Amino acid sequence: MTQDVEKVSLVGAGPGDPDLLTVKAQRLVREAHVLLHDDLVPAVILALATARCEIANVGKRCGSKGITQAEINERMVEAARRGLRVVRLHGGDPAVFGRLGEEIDALEAAGIPFEIVPGVTAGSAAAASLGVSLTDRRKSSRVIIVSGHRATKAAPFAATDWKEVAREDATLVVYMPGNNFMRLREELLGAGLSPETPAVMVSHATMPAEQRAAATLATIHLLPHMDSPAVLLLGRSLDCRQRKQDARLAWKEAELILSSL
Ligand code: SAH
Repeated sequence: MTQDVEKVSLVGAGPGDPDLLTVKAQRLVREAHVLLHDDLVPAVILALATARCEIANVGKRCGSKGITQAEINERMVEAARRGLRVVRLHGGDPAVFGRLGEEIDALEAAGIPFEIVPGVTAGSAAAASLGVSLTDRRKSSRVIIVSGHRATKAAPFAATDWKEVAREDATLVVYMPGNNFMRLREELLGAGLSPETPAVMVSHATMPAEQRAAATLATIHLLPHMDSPAVLLLGRSLDCRQRKQDARLAWKEAELILSSL
């Protein structure tokens, strides 16, 4: 007897706070037979799966096991063909820096149906924690999401042309920003962005270990080292009254305050 192929669910787990999981994501995790998750998905979310569910960390940091993207794709296809309900659980939103495109291609090539369930992306979560709007018709008419990563052979478009994104009318959200902002500072200042532009780094947004540090573009290289995962936000829309009143965030030069919630 041939087994019916199951649909694969490519699901966003949100930034870490289990309350920010969508109702649909929650249901799919509960119903999953196979759960393939990123490093960033916290245990409290994985705990929603049943005891029978086969759970595997397929994240990049799981380096010892060295699972490749091709192997992740194979596992999804093989389990779906066996009629198992597969949830590929990405941190944040699967469509933002999540190799979702490669997974879609693999599933389509194998003739496996799939659905995509969006999640709250880290940049939105960080803005919410800071109490700011990413766009603000008075200050910022666009949001630019970029990666701080260097380009590689496999990802030739990963490198950001900082001159291109240095815009007074944009909020820049840098994923995987690293901790060395000397080059970013030089390039953005060189491209004419104001040294007064507010910059905030948020690490572990929405999680118990959340930390935030504030600077301006001029002092961005002085931001303290913060643990991954972290995002860096830059732009005038971060300059709002609520943030100024927040004693934990100071904007004056050399007055960098690290806050723990
Ligand atoms: N798909 C994810 C991004 C994956 S790339 C999303 O939509 O959020 C991984 C990067 O996302 C991390 O290096 C970090 O820059 C960012 N990130 C993910 N979760 C985060 C969190 N809780 N707080 C801050 N940054 C986070």
